[in-house]
Amino acid sequence: MFEKILIANRGEIALRIQRACRELGIRTITIYSEADKDAKYVKLADEAVCIGPPKSSQSYLNIPAIISAAEITNAQAIHPGYGFLSENAEFARKVEASGFVFIGPKPDAIAIMGDKVKAKEAMAKASVPVVPGSDGELPDNINAIKKIANKIGYPVIIKAVAGGGGRGMKAVHYEDELEQAFLITRQEAEIGFGNKAVYMEKFLTNPRHIEIQVLADEYGNVIHLGERDCSMQRRHQKVIEEAPATDISESLRRSIGNACIKACKTIGYRGAGTFEFLYENGQFYFIEMNTRVQVEHTVTEMITGIDIVKEQIYIASGEKLRYKQTDVKFTGHAIQCRINAEDPYKFTPSPGKIDICHFAGGIGVRVDSHVYSGYTVPPYYDSMIAKIITHADSRQHAINKMKNALLECNFIGIKTNTALHLDLLNDIEFCTKAQSIHYLEYYLKEKASK
Ligand code: ADP
Repeated sequence: MFEKILIANRGEIALRIQRACRELGIRTITIYSEADKDAKYVKLADEAVCIGPPKSSQSYLNIPAIISAAEITNAQAIHPGYGFLSENAEFARKVEASGFVFIGPKPDAIAIMGDKVKAKEAMAKASVPVVPGSDGELPDNINAIKKIANKIGYPVIIKAVAGGGGRGMKAVHYEDELEQAFLITRQEAEIGFGNKAVYMEKFLTNPRHIEIQVLADEYGNVIHLGERDCSMQRRHQKVIEEAPATDISESLRRSIGNACIKACKTIGYRGAGTFEFLYENGQFYFIEMNTRVQVEHTVTEMITGIDIVKEQIYIASGEKLRYKQTDVKFTGHAIQCRINAEDPYKFTPSPGKIDICHFAGGIGVRVDSHVYSGYTVPPYYDSMIAKIITHADSRQHAINKMKNALLECNFIGIKTNTALHLDLLNDIEFCTKAQSIHYLEYYLKEKASK
């Protein structure tokens, strides 16, 4: 096992990784930008290295600065968390070339899965069902694009090959919207991801977002940890996540889980990973794979009792998978609300000082957060300040527990989206039926019109 790990991230995930390391007896090195010098995990770290100014491009995305930090502190391995450089194959390569272990998949697997077109091709080859779409990236010629759209059938969606974080995609319902949507998405892709390639998919009109968590070791052993339903989204970004997904039978879980296991074996996948699917009319359609720990890994941990971050570390240290598929048991229901520093209805960011911060507690309530009373939320990064997770014997009980937990939480000094979460948790449609990925936006529109 490693003695020292460098955590190449910030916010709640930096603290989450630090906790896992501590429990395993591993010393932690935290990197931080000047804007994060007062963060809790920086103060708790065994060693902390400032790697640059607030701007991500000069700090959390600055590969030479991060590798130098690992060198001067004698780290053995680097955990990338999520976001930032976690799915950057070049970073993983440089980490390994500099003699450190990258806690994640092999760089080639990251590169393939980071290209959504190549990922879909690889999955189709491994017999994982994919969303019907263009053969690879779209050509420049608009007439050729129109032909592809006609073949797929409207509505379609144009997506950036290198996209992520719900950005760089546009649905198209009619042919006369096609050219503009293509040009806009291509421009967004170039600016946002440095790669203007886009592709086309059938736009599924009423799907749910259901994803499968997997763990794979160096030796070809792979297990799945069941599914999560992440259909509550705004602008393609997840707001509430839960596990298990309502209405997914044991046999359906097994068959899609086995398809993911087979795919991991085919591509020689290593580490934790998530297969994201859209699910409509009883069918799964692969959309992408995330080759890192996800924000919502927590709900799976609650229902399986398996610490996914620790398993990532065990796998990276060369251990064999510590669980067999038959060891994985699902107990109860878990739900997660992402608490963002933002206006609950206008969604404008609300950074600044949290004068008073009070979290919930009690049986089945988990809080993953790096903030505290007196902490200042910097304006430079993602607005998520906490994740509240509840676990109970049924979905409704987990929802009830979450309502209680949110009412107990208090953040004075900044705005948060807890009011929106409470609205949804009190919404009869949300509580009684599985909803599609469009439900939250529809709900917000209805609310605004009242
Ligand atoms: P990202 O990598 O940016 O997260 P994804 O491919 O995972 O992008 O898609 C994010 C979300 O966008 C999905 O959860 C879904 O809400 C929506 N989406 C993506 N592809 C489609 C599609 N073919 N039809 C309908 N919605 C889609």
